[in-house]
Amino acid sequence: MRGMMGTTFPDVLVVGLGPAGASAAASAARAGARVHAIDRKHEAGKPVQCAEFVPAMMGQQTRALNEATRQPISEMTTFVAQDKYSEPNFIGHMIDRAAFDAALVAEAEANGAVCAFGISLRTISADGSVTLCDGTTHNPRVIIAADGPRSPTGRAVGRVNREIAETRQITVPLLETLQSTDIFLAPDYPGGYAWLFPKGAVANLGLGVDEQCRHQLKQLLADLHARLVAEGRVGADILRHTGGAIPVGGCLDPVVEHGNVTVLLAGDAAGLTNPITGAGINSAVQSGTLAGRAAAKVAAGNHLAATEYRDDLEDLFGASLERAVERRRTLLQKSATGIEPTITDLKRAWIAFPEYWAA
Ligand SMILES: Cc1cc2nc3c(=O)[nH]c(=O)nc-3n(C[C@H](O)[C@H](O)[C@H](O)COP(=O)(O)OP(=O)(O)OC[C@H]3O[C@@H](n4cnc5c(N)ncnc54)[C@H](O)[C@@H]3O)c2cc1C
Repeated sequence: MRGMMGTTFPDVLVVGLGPAGASAAASAARAGARVHAIDRKHEAGKPVQCAEFVPAMMGQQTRALNEATRQPISEMTTFVAQDKYSEPNFIGHMIDRAAFDAALVAEAEANGAVCAFGISLRTISADGSVTLCDGTTHNPRVIIAADGPRSPTGRAVGRVNREIAETRQITVPLLETLQSTDIFLAPDYPGGYAWLFPKGAVANLGLGVDEQCRHQLKQLLADLHARLVAEGRVGADILRHTGGAIPVGGCLDPVVEHGNVTVLLAGDAAGLTNPITGAGINSAVQSGTLAGRAAAKVAAGNHLAATEYRDDLEDLFGASLERAVERRRTLLQKSATGIEPTITDLKRAWIAFPEYWAA
């Protein structure tokens, strides 16, 4: 694979080794491609930037879940103003996200992908050759852009997530037994919501809002934390801080022909996270797996595989993302005009309520 000094010619270069990239590297290597995968982090999955909930159906997607599951979730409870609604058909798992990402990378390596950490993408030239921060140049046949919501790879080829929610999360002691994911909706959380997700003796308490309102995050989260401390639900100590961006504008076109290379976008880089819930692990694993399979075929000369990948994403995620984008934009526009959203407005923009699913 190594040609002239510092130059490699893999079939597939995967940028990013989160759930999308690791799944892509595994499936491309399993399909027989020579795969190089890189991540700018020094260790898989760390630092964690996640509330760590995955739906029960994830079990069908990856064995990594077996190693990473920490607690079952049996329902979702939504708090709107003074009211509380329980949704029992919302089962899933709380995971250790760092362990999950590491298990996916181990699977990619077991399938033959070469995975390197502490390496970031520097540039992609007009002909499609890639320069990394270590000075090496790569001339892959296919690049998989799996480098997250602000994907530098996507940006280099003209695919940018333009609508973003920003989040802030703390991990706190949990003073009660909790088996539900708790959701807090409020007019003063524009374009987002707050969550309390249990993980054994601790919980992830977080809040997301539209990027324009990011300056409000710290105070809003401190207020919610104080309220839950006063209710005796969580402790006052803060054990960990995290946060990060979530793409909320829906799916980008996931295929780009750039010079001599085909670029396939997957996961957050492709805008596949649900704009209402912020959930994106499942779609990252699913899209990554499909992107890897398509990349191996494209590298072997089957260019139709890229078009099929685009169609597969549309079939899998198109309708649900379209609804979520519309619901979020409608609610946000109302806030932007200075009219405080009503409880009915809030319920129409949350998946637990029939109003969300109505026409
Ligand atoms: C606070 C928060 C809470 C969340 N909670 C949940 C949840 O409970 N459940 C859920 O399903 N989803 C949740 N999400 C969303 C979920 O984390 C993402 O959808 C998911 O991580 C997407 O996976 P990915 O592989 O596409 O991207 P990422 O996990 O972001 O991985 C991208 C990788 O690319 C690497 N990278 C970036 N730039 C470069 C570069 N130039 N060169 C090399 N590598 C690069 C990064 O280091 C990173 O490891 C949450 C997000 C946030 C911010």
